[in-house]
Amino acid sequence: MYKLTVIPGDGIGPEVMEAALHILDASEIDFDYETANAGNECFKRTGSTIPQETISTSKKSDATLFGAVTTVPGQKSGIITLRKEMDLYVNLRPVKSYEGTPYLFKGLDFVIVRENTEGLYSGVEEYTEDGADALRVVTRMASERICRFAFEYARKNMRNKVTAVHKANVLKKTDGIFRDVFYDVARGYNDIKSEDFYVDATAMYLITRPHSFDVMVTTNLFGDILSDEGAGLVGGLGLIPSANIGDNNGLFEPVHGSAPDIAGKEIANPSAMILSTCMMLDYLGETEEAQKLEKALTDVLREGKVVTPDLGGSASTMEMADRVKKIFEIL
Ligand code: ATP
Repeated sequence: MYKLTVIPGDGIGPEVMEAALHILDASEIDFDYETANAGNECFKRTGSTIPQETISTSKKSDATLFGAVTTVPGQKSGIITLRKEMDLYVNLRPVKSYEGTPYLFKGLDFVIVRENTEGLYSGVEEYTEDGADALRVVTRMASERICRFAFEYARKNMRNKVTAVHKANVLKKTDGIFRDVFYDVARGYNDIKSEDFYVDATAMYLITRPHSFDVMVTTNLFGDILSDEGAGLVGGLGLIPSANIGDNNGLFEPVHGSAPDIAGKEIANPSAMILSTCMMLDYLGETEEAQKLEKALTDVLREGKVVTPDLGGSASTMEMADRVKKIFEIL
C-alpha cells in the first residue's frame, strides 16, 4: 500500500486530479490518499499558499500528485516552495508524440533532465547603480547528482545516449564545471553514449533533427526553455507531464497551470495529469502498471472519439477519463 499526498490546487487542478484518481481506482495497486491544500484558494482560507502541514504530509508520503495552482503576483509560489523544501533536484520532462494529437513531428520520444535547484534560479539578484545583477550558481555537487541521475535514468529505461547541453564557450567557469563533471560521470557508464552541445545549437537541432535526442541533461534555465520548446514539438499544454524527483521524494504534476479561462467548464484535457500519474507509477517501481496506463491513454488518443475539445472532440474531462479507465481495466 502506497501513501500518496494529493494536492488538487486551483482552477482546472481539481478537475484533472479527479479524472486521474478516477482511473487510478481501477489499478491493481493499493493507494492510501491524503488530500492537502495549496494555492490561491488555500491562501484565501488560511493566509498561506503552502501550509506547513502540506509540506510535512508530502515529505512523509511515498509520492505526491499535484494538480495546478494559481499564483497571484506577489504571493509566495506554493510549488516552488514545495520543490525546495523537499529538495526535488530533478525536473524530468518527457517529449513524446502520441498518435491523434497535434504534434509537429511523428515518433518523437526523448526526455529532458533539468537541474531544478540552482543556475539562474538561485534567486540571488541585486540592484546595481545602473541596473541589476543575477547570480548564476553551478556547484560540482548539484552538477554531479543531476548528471548521474540522467545516466541512471538512461540505463534503467534502455536509452542509449545522454546529451549535455551548456554554453561553456561563454560561461567558461560555471558551464565549464557542468561539462567537465558530465564527462567525469559519463566515464562510469561505458554502455551509454555521451555527447555535448551548446544550448543555441541544441535549440536549432530540436527543430532540424529532434529524433536524434534520447536523454538530455542541462542546467536550470536552459532546461526550462528547452522543455517548453519540446512541448511545442509534441503539441499542446494539455498533454505534457512532469516529474520533480529528489533522493527521498517525488512530486508529479502536469506542466499546464490552473487555466482559469476554462475552469469549471469540465473541458480540461486530463492527459497531462494522467501521464504525470504514469510517471509516478514508474517512480514507485510499478513499471508494468505505468505502461498499462500509458497504453490506455494512448488508445483513447489514437481513437480520437472520446477526447476533449482541445483535441478536436466534444467529451468532458470525466468522460475522457472514464474511457481511459475502461481500457485500463481490461489491459
Ligand atoms: P496559470 O496562471 O495558473 O499558469 P494560465 O492560464 O496562465 O494559468 P496555463 O494554465 O498553463 O496558464 O494555460 C494556458 C492556456 O492553455 C489556458 O488558458 C488554456 O486555454 C490552455 N490549457 C492549459 N491546460 C489545459 C488543459 N489541461 N486542457 C485544455 N486546455 C488547457
